Amino acid sequence: MSDAQEPVRSKEEEEDPSQEDSEDDSSEEETPGEMDFLRNLFSSALGFGAGSGEKALDELALDGVAKYIQSGKCKNIICMAGAGISTSAGIPDFRSPGTGLYANLQKYSLPYPEAIFQIDYFKQHPEPFFALAKELYPGQFKPTICHYFIKLLKDKGLLRRCYTQNIDTLERVAGLEGEDLIEAHGTFYTSHCVSFCCRREYNLDWMKEKIFSDDIPRCEKCQSLVKPDIVFFGENLPVRFFTSMKMDFPRCDLLIVMGTSLKVQPFASLVSKVSRNCPRLLINMEKTGQVEPMLGVFGGGMDFDSDKAYRDVAHISSCDDGCLALADLLGWKSELEELVKKEHARIDSEDQKKKQSENDGAEASPKPEASPKPEASPKPEASPKPEASPKPEASPKPEASPKPEARDG
Ligand SMILES: [Zn+2]
Repeated sequence: MSDAQEPVRSKEEEEDPSQEDSEDDSSEEETPGEMDFLRNLFSSALGFGAGSGEKALDELALDGVAKYIQSGKCKNIICMAGAGISTSAGIPDFRSPGTGLYANLQKYSLPYPEAIFQIDYFKQHPEPFFALAKELYPGQFKPTICHYFIKLLKDKGLLRRCYTQNIDTLERVAGLEGEDLIEAHGTFYTSHCVSFCCRREYNLDWMKEKIFSDDIPRCEKCQSLVKPDIVFFGENLPVRFFTSMKMDFPRCDLLIVMGTSLKVQPFASLVSKVSRNCPRLLINMEKTGQVEPMLGVFGGGMDFDSDKAYRDVAHISSCDDGCLALADLLGWKSELEELVKKEHARIDSEDQKKKQSENDGAEASPKPEASPKPEASPKPEASPKPEASPKPEASPKPEASPKPEARDG
């Protein structure tokens, strides 16, 4: 199967040696699940935890989180991501009810709108799903600032894992690998034959070609349907979601929740799986995931504002802005902006090449890349004189570098 090259963290039973310097973090971690739950339950019922002197954050704000990351005590960061991290990339949130999409489904004459993502219906009537997939297929897969912020966490050795609800593969495009990721609701990145005896795997290019040629994708081996590996209603979440969750969350030093309303279970419940002292940062357009008053002790929801709030921080902004602000506080801002610029340029040039070769079609005359001659140097910027140029259209400047300042909001 894919992702074979990375042995790290591949076995649930094994610690990731690279993450555990010499610091021995207690012996209780042998039984993370239930023990943690009980401990948390008791400590919160008895009033420990909060204010027990172990507060990780000086301040319940982005500054406090940045200081904590810089303190060196924060080595295992888990990111939880939702559709909000991809909206600035123009990816439609097409699996969630209430996004406007469902209102547009009449033309497929479905018995009810959700049927389009219902596994049983799909197996009988795959056409509506693939028609919709074609309609909504992103023109370009260009990750956002937020995606590259997560990649930066990985590069700095701080990312334990990214749990995403998104199926758009942008985390992978940004450079996260299979091991770094839990795609809780599956992914378009791979597809499989639906026949249990076959299960042959197909890649994204193969699927895209079928979708755009209006073919219903059929397995080349057994002629059964081929379905993208996204989780349909009526299907289980990937097994890795559950196995990794048990290993990752008790060891988490900081949880960063981005662009999700935390309404879909079991994903939403992940916020309660970290330890009682683990700070949680929400970057979102609105507060979400808060404690249900009636379930306070049991729910494990977020508490940003009460007198007892001690570890939850809500940063209300777009995911891109929030990540930029945090990167700024960490001294990583220019590094992040460079990364985004470089990667976007790479994606653009690849797209261009692809289009070119599609246009050239069969009779491709591979042009010998514009002459590498030394190119007349573009005037040494000597004279700073204001220059009353009469012609408005005089100088077609050789492309002023597009400043990455374009921080909206
Ligand atoms: Zn097959």
